[in-house]
Amino acid sequence: MAEGPAATPSSGGRTVEECQDMIQRSFRTPMVKFLKENLEKSGCWVSDNFIKAVHCDKKISGGYVRGEGIMVCANHMNIQDEVNQVVIHELIHAYDDCRAKNLDWADCAHHACSEIRAGHLSGDCHYKRELLRGYMKIRGHEQECVRRRVMKSVTANPYCSEAAAKDAMEAVWDICYNDTTPFDRAP
Ligand SMILES: [Zn+2]
Repeated sequence: MAEGPAATPSSGGRTVEECQDMIQRSFRTPMVKFLKENLEKSGCWVSDNFIKAVHCDKKISGGYVRGEGIMVCANHMNIQDEVNQVVIHELIHAYDDCRAKNLDWADCAHHACSEIRAGHLSGDCHYKRELLRGYMKIRGHEQECVRRRVMKSVTANPYCSEAAAKDAMEAVWDICYNDTTPFDRAP
């Protein structure tokens, strides 16, 4: 599931090799370790080449494809934190795909649910990252940020029009925002 552009629209990005090293480094962060462990506990093995650095022509930061794994767009990454964010976000999609054997990415509500969880649980909308994006309002902002990013990702789904994406997001918002598995609460 493809994601919108990374936090900082700036500078030139990284080479695939540099990005691959950054992915390796992300495996040392507690969040990535925790998600990898939980994927494996759920029966989905995270092999060494599960997460790949690639060059992306589209304006996306990364994505997850069932059966293929996670890609991180090297040319849109600049700092380690961005790589960590993409890896964490996509691992939550992989986790959702793993635990719900009947997850249908063509179903806008299923897709929206996983985006809500990934946006909320990954810290994509932590206020410091939002400040980097130039969004300054703090209060009540986290949910607004998650909504904005869910809409971006779900409308990129060829099966979901803008109206369908919005309806789906509203319909599943409460359940999916409050579903923090495999975390006890939102990290
Ligand atoms: Zn996503």
